[in-house]
Amino acid sequence: MFSSLNSRILIAAIAGILLGLALSAGGPSALWHAPVLYALSLAGSVFIGLLKLILVPLIFCSIVVGVAQLQAHHSIHRVWKVTALCCLTTTTLAVTLGILCAHWFDPGKGLNIQLFHGAMAGYTPAHSFSGTEFIQQFINGLLVNPFKAMAENNILAIVLFALLVGAGLVSGKKRFNQLHTFMEQAFQLVMVLVGWIMQLAPMGIFALLAKLVATENLDILGSLATFAVVVTGSTLFHGLIVLPALLWIFGKMSPLTFFRGARPALITAFATSSSSATLPVSLRCTEDNLGVHPSIAGFVVPIGSQMNMDGTALYEAAAALFIANLVGMDLTIGQQVIVCLTAMLASLGAPGIPSAGMVTMIMVLQSVGLPAEAVAILLPIDRLLDTVRTVVNVQGDLMISVVVERFVGAPEKGAEGAESTIV
Ligand code: ASP
Repeated sequence: MFSSLNSRILIAAIAGILLGLALSAGGPSALWHAPVLYALSLAGSVFIGLLKLILVPLIFCSIVVGVAQLQAHHSIHRVWKVTALCCLTTTTLAVTLGILCAHWFDPGKGLNIQLFHGAMAGYTPAHSFSGTEFIQQFINGLLVNPFKAMAENNILAIVLFALLVGAGLVSGKKRFNQLHTFMEQAFQLVMVLVGWIMQLAPMGIFALLAKLVATENLDILGSLATFAVVVTGSTLFHGLIVLPALLWIFGKMSPLTFFRGARPALITAFATSSSSATLPVSLRCTEDNLGVHPSIAGFVVPIGSQMNMDGTALYEAAAALFIANLVGMDLTIGQQVIVCLTAMLASLGAPGIPSAGMVTMIMVLQSVGLPAEAVAILLPIDRLLDTVRTVVNVQGDLMISVVVERFVGAPEKGAEGAESTIV
C-alpha cells in the first residue's frame, strides 16, 4: 500500500511543479491566479499543520520506546556511538566539500558588494551571538521544563527528556512494565495517525510545490547565480555521490534501493523545507521501505532530524566564504577551520524548520569577523536553496539508520519489546 502511495507522491510532486510553472507564466493578473493560490495555501497548510500536530507525540514516544527497547538488548552504547560517529563523519565531509567547492569556483569574486548595500542597510540581525554565547544558549534551551518544551515545540529539549525517560524506564526493570507497555501502545497509536496523515501527503506536496514555484522569484537567482549553482551542485554531489558511496561501503545497501525506499521522505523534505515536519514520513520510510528495525529507526531518525544536518553545514561553510569574497576579505587557513567548526556547531543547533540555517549562519559569519548583516544578501534565495539542503539533511538521517543497523544489528527476536513493531 505504501509503495502505491510512494508513486502517488512522485506524481503529485511533478504535477505541483507543472501547475506552479503555469501559474507563474500566467502572472498574478490572471483571473484564476489568486483563487488557485489561496486554495493551494489552504491545502498546503492543512498538510503541514497535521505533520506539526503529530510531531511532538511522535518524537517523544518513538525515542522513549526506542531507548527502552535498545537498553533491553544492552546495545544502546553501540547504537549511540555508531550514530554519533556517522553524524560526525558525514557532517565533516559536508563542510569540507562546501569549503573546497567555494574555493574552486570562487563565487562572489567580481560581484560588487555595493549592489547589496540597500538590502544590508535594511537588515538587523535578530540575534547576534558568539560561539561561547551560542553554547550557553544551546544549554539553556535544552534544560527546560518538559511540558513547556512540548507546548513550545522545543524539539531538542523534548529529545533530551525522552532519552532520559527511556533510560529511566529500563533502569526500573519490571517495576515499570505497565508504563513500558503503555508507551509502546501510545507509539503504535501515533503511527496509526501518521498513516492517516500520509494519505494526504500527495495533496499536501502537490499544493506546497505548486505554491513554491508560483510565488518564489526565480529571477533573483540571477544576481547570485554562481553562488546558488555552487551550493546546490555541491549539496547534490554530497547527496548523490558521497552519502550513497558511504551507504554502499558501510551499509551494504545499493543506492538505488535506498533512493526508491527513501523517495517519499525526500520529496516531502523538498516540499516542506523542514526536517521536523518530514519526520513522520522519514520514520515510515526507514522502517517500512528500508527495513530498519523500529527500535533503531525510532532512536536514530528523530535525533538525526534535529542534530544531523549535512546540507545545512555545507551551505553555511560555503556561504561564509562567499560573503568573505564579497567583502574582499581573505580568510586564513585558521579562519577557515573556525568556519568549518562553527558551521558544524550551527547545523547541530539549527532546528529542523524552514530557513533555520539562516539564523544560525550569523554565528558562523561572526566567528571570523564577517558582517552579520550580509545574511540579508542570501535571504531572497534562501527559500529556494533550503529545499535541496533539507533533502540532504533528511537523506543523511535515513542513511545513518541503515548503517547503524548494519553495524549494531537488529535486536534478536523474542527479546523484550522486539515484537512491538509499527502497524
Ligand atoms: N530547513 C532545514 C531543515 O529543516 C534547516 C535549514 O534551514 O538549514 O533541515
